[in-house]
Amino acid sequence: MQVNLQKAVLILREDGVVGIPTETVYGLAARIDSESALRQIFATKERPFFDPLIVHVSSLEQARGLVSWWPEVATVLAQRFWPGPLTLVLPKAEQVNPLITSGLPTVALRQPRHPLTQQLLEKVGPLAAPSANKFGRVSPTRPEHVEGEFSGQVAVLDGGSCEVGIESTVLLVKNSNPVQISILREGQILLSEIEKEMTEAKLPFTTVAAVSRAESPGHFRHHYMPSVPLVLCERIPRCQEHLQVALAEKISQIPEQVEGVRVRKPSSLQNLRELVLATDPVLAARELYQRLREVAETSPDVIYFVVPSCCIFRS
Ligand code: AMP
Ligand code: MG
Repeated sequence: MQVNLQKAVLILREDGVVGIPTETVYGLAARIDSESALRQIFATKERPFFDPLIVHVSSLEQARGLVSWWPEVATVLAQRFWPGPLTLVLPKAEQVNPLITSGLPTVALRQPRHPLTQQLLEKVGPLAAPSANKFGRVSPTRPEHVEGEFSGQVAVLDGGSCEVGIESTVLLVKNSNPVQISILREGQILLSEIEKEMTEAKLPFTTVAAVSRAESPGHFRHHYMPSVPLVLCERIPRCQEHLQVALAEKISQIPEQVEGVRVRKPSSLQNLRELVLATDPVLAARELYQRLREVAETSPDVIYFVVPSCCIFRS
C-alpha cells in the first residue's frame, strides 16, 4: 500500500511502521521513542534482536542529542558528508532504547538525503530504519520492492528509485587518544575520502582495519545473499560449455555452510543468467539490487557476473 507524506506521518505518530525512501535503499521506519513500533520492525523483517538499527536524524543537532560523546571529528564528517550515505557509530546517550542498539553502548546515526524523508524526520523526529526487506534478503531500491517483500502489508512512502542504491558506509568513531576510526561496512563513501577530510581539518586520528564481531554485529558474509546462487567470474567465458565447466569448478570449492547458514547450491547448470551492470561503479551500485531481482525472478540455476578486469585485485 503506497501512502503520501501526510499519511506516513499519521502512521508513525500512531506507533506504526512505514517503508521510507532514502538515497541508499528503502528503510522500514519506526519512531525511536515508540517501543511497540521498534518491536514491529524486528517482527516484520524477521530480524534477530542482536542486529542493531541505524537511527535517521534531520540534523547534526538532533544527532548530538542521542550520543554521550560528540567529538570534533563527528562535526567535521557530518558537515562534509551529511545529508548523505555515511553512518557514524558513537557512544549512545542513556535515553536511546537498547532495542535499537542491541544492548551495545554505541548508536549508529545518519542524516539521509532524500527530500521526502527529510520532511518526515522534521515532522516526527528521529526514526530507526533498517532496510525494508526480510532479514538476509536483497535490499529494496523501489517502492514496489518493499510492497512485494511484505506482500502489501506495509505502508510505503513512494520516493522513486534510490539514487545511491547500496547501504551507507558505517564508520565507528572510538573515544581514545587520538580518536580511532574503523570502517564497519563499506559503502559509496570511501575510507580515503574520510581520512582526507580529517587530515585537512588537522584532526589527529588513527585508522584500525580489523574490529571484533562484538563491535560490528549483524555482519555476515551471507547477509546480502540473493535467492539464486550468484557466482563471480574473473574472465569472459569463451562459450557456454566453457562457462559451465568454470562454474562447476567454482561451485565445488564453495563450503556447504557459511557462518552456520547452508549455502544454496544449484542442482543443474543448464539455465544460466548473466548479471550485467554498468561499468561505472556509481551507476553499477545504483542498479545492482534492481538487476539482481530481475535476473533472480526468471529462476535460473545460477546467476553469473563477469567482474570487470579493473576490479580484480590479487594479493
Ligand atoms: P541496515 O540493516 O542496512 O540498516 O544496517 C544496519 C547495520 O549497521 C547493522 O547490521 C550493523 O552492522 C550496523 N550498526 C548499527 N548500529 C550499530 C552499532 N551500534 N554498532 C555497530 N554497528 C552498528
Ligand atoms: Mg539490511
